Amino acid sequence: MNIVIQKFGGTSVATEESRNYVIQKIIDIKLKGKMPVVVVSAMGRKGDPYATDTLLQITNTMDLHECLREKDLLMSCGEIISAVVLVTTLLQKGYKAMAFTGGQAGIITDEQFGQAHVLEVNSQTLQKVINEGFIPIVSGFQGISKNGNITTLGRGGSDTTAALLGEALKAESIEIYTDVDGIMTTDPRIYPKAQRIHCLSYNEVFQMADNGARVIHPRAVQIARRANIPLYIKNTFNDSKGTCILHCPVSPIPLVTAIAYRSQRVQISIIDEKVEDEIFFALLAKEGVSIDIINIFPERKVFTIDEECLPLVFALLEKQKINFSYIKDCCKITMIGEGMTGVPGVMAKILRCLKNEHVEILQTADSLMTIACLIYNKDLSRAIKVLHQEFQL
Ligand code: ASP
Ligand code: MG
Repeated sequence: MNIVIQKFGGTSVATEESRNYVIQKIIDIKLKGKMPVVVVSAMGRKGDPYATDTLLQITNTMDLHECLREKDLLMSCGEIISAVVLVTTLLQKGYKAMAFTGGQAGIITDEQFGQAHVLEVNSQTLQKVINEGFIPIVSGFQGISKNGNITTLGRGGSDTTAALLGEALKAESIEIYTDVDGIMTTDPRIYPKAQRIHCLSYNEVFQMADNGARVIHPRAVQIARRANIPLYIKNTFNDSKGTCILHCPVSPIPLVTAIAYRSQRVQISIIDEKVEDEIFFALLAKEGVSIDIINIFPERKVFTIDEECLPLVFALLEKQKINFSYIKDCCKITMIGEGMTGVPGVMAKILRCLKNEHVEILQTADSLMTIACLIYNKDLSRAIKVLHQEFQL
C-alpha cells in the first residue's frame, strides 16, 4: 500500500480546533486509498504547557544540566503527549489508530543525549500495524538507545523522524505540515509580495537554510534526498498546494528561486602584513568563531562574522596587536538558484539592480548555485525588493 508520511508541527497539534484540521488531513490521505503514517511535534509554543521550550524551562530550573539522560526523558514527553491525544481523538471519530514513542517505532540511536544520532530504523512494528489497518501516530524528535535509554534528536528533530520513517517505510511522499503555505521566495516580513515557491530542489533548500531562511530542518532534507522521496511543505489550516521539494523540480529551471538573508553580520578587514594567515585563522577557529565570505589577498584579508562574536574577535585582535578595521550593521543577502550554474550575466544583473537602487555592496561571494552580497542593514528591504522584481520570483 502507498504510504504517506504526515508530520504535524507544534501549532498544528496545539488545540482541539487545530487538531480537527490535522485529522481532516489524515482522513484525506485515507480517502485517496493511501496509508497515512503520522509524526507529531510537542503541542504549541513556548509558554504552552507541554511545548518543548516549556519542558526545557523545567529542566533548567531543576538544574538537570548534569543529568542529560533524565533531561531527554523529560523532553521526550511533549511529543508523547501529542501522539496520545491525537490517537484518542481519532478513536472517538471511529478510526483505528495507535500511538508510538520514537523507540517503539523502531528509531534506534546512540547515547549522545540531546543530540542523538540515529543508527538504524526498524520499521517492522509500524509495518505490521499498518497492515492491520491502524494509523500509527509516532512521537517525533526521539529514539531509544541499544541500552534502552530514551534520547532526543536535537531541536527541530520531528522533521528528521518523519524523513527517517519515510525512508524506512519506502513512503511515496513526506508531507511536513505547518502554519504557513509553504516555502516563500523571500521573507514576507521584509517583502510582503513574496510568493510561495511551488517547487524547488533539495540543494536549493539546503542553501536557503544555510543562508538564513527559516525552512525545514536540513537533516530531514538530506534524508529525503538520499531516499529520493518528494518532500512537501504544506499548511494544516488550508488547502494550499504547498511547496514540493525534489531533485530536479521544473524546467526550464529559473536562474534564481529564492532570496535569503542573514542579518547581524560584521565585516572585518585585516591590513597587516605581519599576520600569518594560517595561524590567525586557526586562532579564530580555536575560539569557535565561524567566519563567512572569506577573501584572502597578499596584503589583506576580509571576512564576516556574526555580531555576537564581535567582543571575542576584538579581544583576539587586540591581544595579537593586529591592525584591523570593521563595518557593523551589515547583512548578507543571497540569491539561490540551480539555474544560475554556468550562466553568464547573473552577477552583472545583480550589480546593475543594486547600483540603480543606490545599494552599496561591501563584499561578494559565490558558489555554483548562489551569489551573495554583503550590504548595509538599512538597504536590506530595498535590495530584496529590486532583486525579487528583477528575477521575477
Ligand atoms: N518539539 C521539538 C522542538 O521544538 C521537535 C520538533 O518540533 O521538531 O524542537
Ligand atoms: Mg519544528
